[in-house]
Amino acid sequence: MKKRIGLVGFGGMGKQHIKRIKDSQYTEIAAIFDTDSNKDYSTIAPQIKIVETLADLLKDPTIDIILIATPNETHKDISIQALQAGKHVISEKPVTLNTLELKEILAAAEKYDRKFTVHQNRRWDENYLITKKLLEEKKLGELLYVENRVQGSRGIPNDWRRNKEQGGGMLLDWGVHLIDRILFLFPNQKIISIHATLNYFLGHEVDDGFKIELTFDSLKKAYLEVGTTNFIELPEWYTVGSIGTAVIEDFELNGKYVTLTGELAKEAVPVETGAGLTKTMAPRNDDSIESFPLPSVKSNVVEFYDNFALAIAGKAETLIKKEELLRLTTIIDACFESARKNQTIQFEKGL
Ligand code: NAD
Repeated sequence: MKKRIGLVGFGGMGKQHIKRIKDSQYTEIAAIFDTDSNKDYSTIAPQIKIVETLADLLKDPTIDIILIATPNETHKDISIQALQAGKHVISEKPVTLNTLELKEILAAAEKYDRKFTVHQNRRWDENYLITKKLLEEKKLGELLYVENRVQGSRGIPNDWRRNKEQGGGMLLDWGVHLIDRILFLFPNQKIISIHATLNYFLGHEVDDGFKIELTFDSLKKAYLEVGTTNFIELPEWYTVGSIGTAVIEDFELNGKYVTLTGELAKEAVPVETGAGLTKTMAPRNDDSIESFPLPSVKSNVVEFYDNFALAIAGKAETLIKKEELLRLTTIIDACFESARKNQTIQFEKGL
């Protein structure tokens, strides 16, 4: 039997969950609660109940999972109430506004012996998975550094995302996704330092973009960037390995990778570039490199819901784990601290 979900929040993301869960093998939406009583539910399937209070969802014994898709500052309280009521919980990202809040939720999950996870859905993005595949298959040699960015030109949406106390801003929005998944490109490596700068170009009380540098104990690096004032976007992914480089321009997966076929440090003839002369930067026009199309990957984010249902049934491990969430919120806390102090945050024992 499918696990029955009570959805809290019928906004942009709530509707997306409903759409995706239609394809889920092991979960279904049973009921919805939203504080806004003027919502139009006319497109919702008749078997989905609309309830008037959160308590109505929590006391419904047929509901197994509470799925939280409300503004960021509400995730903690709704999660704890749901766990206390004996429900398993999926929270939207960012799980909480800081690590202390996450620890409160995890303590409740432990106390009431319920499962808790977070919708880190962008682990299923194809452009990320292509980068991961190239690295796992060593197509670029050893990873040296990777840049991942997302840029738009529309500013921050004019809703709760502009309010600090509601957990607005781009670090808690896209930042959470970018940090979460980049860590899997550096397996078994610890972060030794974090430097973050937040941008306030648009004059809101929250950041409208950021740049983050993560340095790992291997001295390899990840550079993460989000911008909302960019009418020309830089590549989403730019990955530099010891014998190759990959670029993925956009969500349409335009891009390529180039690898060495000849010698790495082949002696180059100095060339005139601009007003100067260089050997170091001489282009490789000697057939010592080859260019390839990006590999294709298959991905289906519906796996996220099915995995959680299987985890509840004791048949799988939750894909998004609590240790990963704690590491993620600790990094985000450090990014805020780094930006506030304009300092690099060091982790002597590694994070
Ligand atoms: P939204 O403003 O479109 O919708 C939020 C809804 O929650 C609204 O309908 C509002 O009336 C309702 N609401 C507010 N407080 C409530 C409460 N206490 N109880 C019940 N309902 C309440 O926002 P959104 O874009 O849907 O974002 C919701 C959450 O989803 C946020 O945490 C956001 O970060 C996350 N999100 C995730 C992704 C993703 O890809 N994972 C994408 C977009 C948004």
